[in-house]
Formats: sequence, C-alpha cells, structure tokens
Amino acid sequence: MSALTIALTKGRILKETLPLLAAAGIEPLEDISKSRKLTFETSSPDVRLLILRGSDVPTYVEFGAADIGVAGKDTLLEHGGKGFYEPLDLRISRCRLMTAGMVGKSTPVGRMKVATKYVSLAKQYYAEKGQQVDIIKLYGAMELAPLMDLADEIVDIVDTGNTLVANGLEPREEIATISSRLIVNKASLKMKHQKIEAFIDAVAGVVREREAELEKA
Ligand code: AMP
Repeated sequence: MSALTIALTKGRILKETLPLLAAAGIEPLEDISKSRKLTFETSSPDVRLLILRGSDVPTYVEFGAADIGVAGKDTLLEHGGKGFYEPLDLRISRCRLMTAGMVGKSTPVGRMKVATKYVSLAKQYYAEKGQQVDIIKLYGAMELAPLMDLADEIVDIVDTGNTLVANGLEPREEIATISSRLIVNKASLKMKHQKIEAFIDAVAGVVREREAELEKA
C-alpha cells in the first residue's frame, strides 16, 4: 500500500483540522502543538503528517512532496491555485479577505499605497478595479501601516473586525470569503486514487455532518 503524506500548518488550521482527520481514523501519535518536530507518524501506519508554514503548503502539494494539504483559501489565491486539485471546502477557519483604511479618511486621488502580505492577490484585485497602486510587502501587523502613514489601505484577513477597530481602521471592500480547503497533488490522485478518494469521502462526511448540526442549532 502506498503511503500518504498530509501537509498541515500549526495554529488555527491545525486545531480545527485534527478533529476532521480523527474522524477519518488519522490521529498523530504525539502532541504536535508541544513538539518542535516537523513530521509526525499517525495511528494509521501509512499516513504521515508534515507541519509547514501556511504559504509553503501549496508548494509542497504542487510538487508532490506532500500528497494532500490543508490551506486557507487566502494562501491558495496568493499562490495562484495552480498545480493541484482543490476537491473539498473544509468550512473551517472562516473569515474574510478585505481592504481596510483609516476611519473617515478617503482614498487618495491617483496612486495609492497598499500594504499587505498578499502581494500578488492585491495587485490583481486593484488592477481589475483599474486603481493604480504601489504594493508594500509586509509580513505581519498590517493594521499598523495606515496608522504610521506607510500605506493608504491594507489588504488583510478580517474575522470579528476587532483588530481593525482597535487600530482606528474601518473595513472597506470584501475581496473574498475565506475558509480552509483540502488540496491534492494531481499525480497522487491518479496513483493513490483509492486511498485518497476514501480519505476525501471520510472527511467530506464529517464536514457535512457538522454543517447539518450547525443548521439545526
Ligand atoms: P479579528 O480581530 O477577529 O478581525 O482578527 C483579525 C486578525 O486575526 C488578523 O490580523 C488576521 O491575520 C487574523 N485572523 C483572523 N481570522 C483568521 C483566519 N481564519 N486565518 C488566519 N488569520 C486570521
């Protein structure tokens, strides 16, 4: 039997993905959040987990270093979303990708400065709107950029909106609704078809059950 390698990322996605994997009979043999290791054996002897940086998950899956991955739609959009299949919306880690700016401050006429970690996505978004922008790449704390006059707008993830409010910002336009997705390497799906289909079906079943529960509540 061919082994399966699944790429995950620490934090919110890991926390919300582990129960889905458990329902498919896959549980890590040690506590991932307490370990510095990057690979983990599981209760299923032929399934191994990799712990990567979120933005590296699509790269590992695209090149077949992992068969399957779990990544946010924001990460997939920024990566370009090519080179792998995206068969399942896990409906976890849901949030919105938005533009935001200082409360009450209108956007400048002419070129606008936009700070974000989503450089490629932001370029495409403003180009489609016909807005001229200079993109400033940041790696975190995007919400600080307008306050310090580094940028007129930011493109960032918004969940409750509390971080925006706490920094004197207001949400402006929604670029996309985000949730975590299951992605699959194209060659793996062919070569390990039965195993991967069974895995996707098991996880999809849990996702559906959860949605039904939420609808009832
Ligand atoms: P909030 O204050 O609830 O709007 O959360 C916003 C901050 O949390 C942003 O700086 C985001 O980077 C981060 N965040 C919220 N939800 C997510 C998510 N689903 N995935 C990744 N980052 C998130």
